[in-house]
Amino acid sequence: MARVNIPSFTLNDGTKIPALGYGTWLGMDEKEDAGPSKPFSFEFSAEGMPKMMDALSYAIDIGYRHIDTAHLYRVEPEVGKIIDKKIKDGVVKREDLFITTKVWHHFHREADVEVSVRGSLRRLNLDYVDLVLMHWPMSISQDGVDEKIDYLETWRGFESVLSKGLAKSIGVSNFNVEQMKRLLANCKVPPSTNQVEINLNLGQKELVDYCQANNVLIVAYSPFGTMVPSRSAPNSPEPKLNNPTMVAIGKKYGKSVTQVTLRYLYQRGIVSIPKTVTPSRVVENASIFDFELDKGDMETLAKFDNGFRTVRPFFWQDYQNYPFEKIPDKMEIPESLRIWKNGLNLDID
Ligand code: NDP
Repeated sequence: MARVNIPSFTLNDGTKIPALGYGTWLGMDEKEDAGPSKPFSFEFSAEGMPKMMDALSYAIDIGYRHIDTAHLYRVEPEVGKIIDKKIKDGVVKREDLFITTKVWHHFHREADVEVSVRGSLRRLNLDYVDLVLMHWPMSISQDGVDEKIDYLETWRGFESVLSKGLAKSIGVSNFNVEQMKRLLANCKVPPSTNQVEINLNLGQKELVDYCQANNVLIVAYSPFGTMVPSRSAPNSPEPKLNNPTMVAIGKKYGKSVTQVTLRYLYQRGIVSIPKTVTPSRVVENASIFDFELDKGDMETLAKFDNGFRTVRPFFWQDYQNYPFEKIPDKMEIPESLRIWKNGLNLDID
């Protein structure tokens, strides 16, 4: 069986975090028959679940130790079952795993953070998570009401969860530079991480520089951006998988275009959490720690940055603390990002 050897970064609280993790967001499918008043809507993608469970199981077998999940993803029970089995089978010990989950918009009152984390622990069947993140800085009720809870209040709930040992580290996700500055200036415990979209299309230099200068580790979600077919549209920017510059760099090191991409992020001091349900890609994505991109290639790759966001939830853009630049488009919040009990798994509350 293949084996991968994934190094670690150290967080500002001294905890080690593997530099590459397994992402568990199965995505949402566009539903076309949503009715005349809703030209389209989204539902959680159920199809990938059995494949994801097999791929995650395989990932742990070959050496992955870091798993990224979230309450939102509706997969915590399944992720928990795989972890449980791997521990019982003696493949891995709990202390060797690094499990991240996230607190959704409905749980931003200080006291609700603990409610959310305890729910995740129950679903994951764990006593603690290694890292818990504030998924977004906005607070939105299940009815779509802007609750306008200051993320500084929410953060106090995170500090409390940390002090109770329910999480070993605490962090944020989707915070922009201004929000990071304000949080760092007004917290007792600084966030260990900021998980944001970073890929070749979206380099986020200012945010990465600020976080790194202040000892906050960056974790890159959607690390492939629009490179992979599931995300690329005819009008989405380069590089795609067949981009000649990327192909040439890959050839030079005997690596694939996706491996070059993940290696580029690692050399910028960034953790990546690519998602794949394909076993060969599970191996491929983690086989990036045996080569080094030279300075010229790092500079060439940096030039693809054009500020293009793959994840742009503009249906939240009028809510307080929406972190990204606004665009003219309008859209209702998809029901499945709002109403909790229509997930794939009835155990999700
Ligand atoms: P990714 O950039 O990981 O892309 C996933 C897609 O890439 C899938 O279609 C997958 O296909 C394909 N793929 C994976 N590896 C390869 C490869 N080697 N070659 C070709 N194609 C490949 O995007 P995600 O948006 O899923 O982000 C990763 C993770 O980040 C999520 O799973 C989630 O854990 C986290 N996340 C966090 C967010 C936040 O707000 N904090 C937002 C979005 C994501 P296939 O599976 O069919 O192999």
